[in-house]
Amino acid sequence: MNPRITLLTAVCALTLVACGDKSPGTADTAAPATTPEPAATETSTTKAPATTAPGSDKPAAVVTDCSTVIEGTDTMQFNVGSIVVPASCTEFNITLKHVGQMPVAAMGHNVVIAKAADMHDIDADGIAAGAAAAYVKPDDTRVIAHTELVGGGQTTSVSFPVSRIQGDGPYAFFCSFPGHSTMMKGAISVG
Ligand code: ZN
Repeated sequence: MNPRITLLTAVCALTLVACGDKSPGTADTAAPATTPEPAATETSTTKAPATTAPGSDKPAAVVTDCSTVIEGTDTMQFNVGSIVVPASCTEFNITLKHVGQMPVAAMGHNVVIAKAADMHDIDADGIAAGAAAAYVKPDDTRVIAHTELVGGGQTTSVSFPVSRIQGDGPYAFFCSFPGHSTMMKGAISVG
């Protein structure tokens, strides 16, 4: 008995020493090496992008059967900060409920899906296109999908192929009513 215990203790001690020596060394050298090249890890961290700070304090949308229902309010807000589309879906549906009471002319909301990088220009062109175009430039190829513009008490929805948001992201959803995209925007990704 005694010799075995001694042997086990010796093995444990050796393992501890080996681990203790290795861990700090590996961590020290690995950290600087991976920092300049985060490209490979970027896809796995898109669920919480730092670029959507205004929406980050809001919950992710509840997704059921490849669809979600989000809300827009009279205080120029979406109720969610992000939408994660299940990778198993081929088609995804977004329903927008305007839960406020203000008319579409004063507090209209829609949901536009596009690359986050295109959001600003799509928004500017949508404002130029005006209310008659529901603030989305007709045939704008940068727009992946968009709903109608709705006012208080109204609901609208849109479906699009999930493959459209599986390219070079990140992708965003936002409201293109003039001035709203500063507040009404969030990240949409495939998880
Ligand atoms: Zn809006």
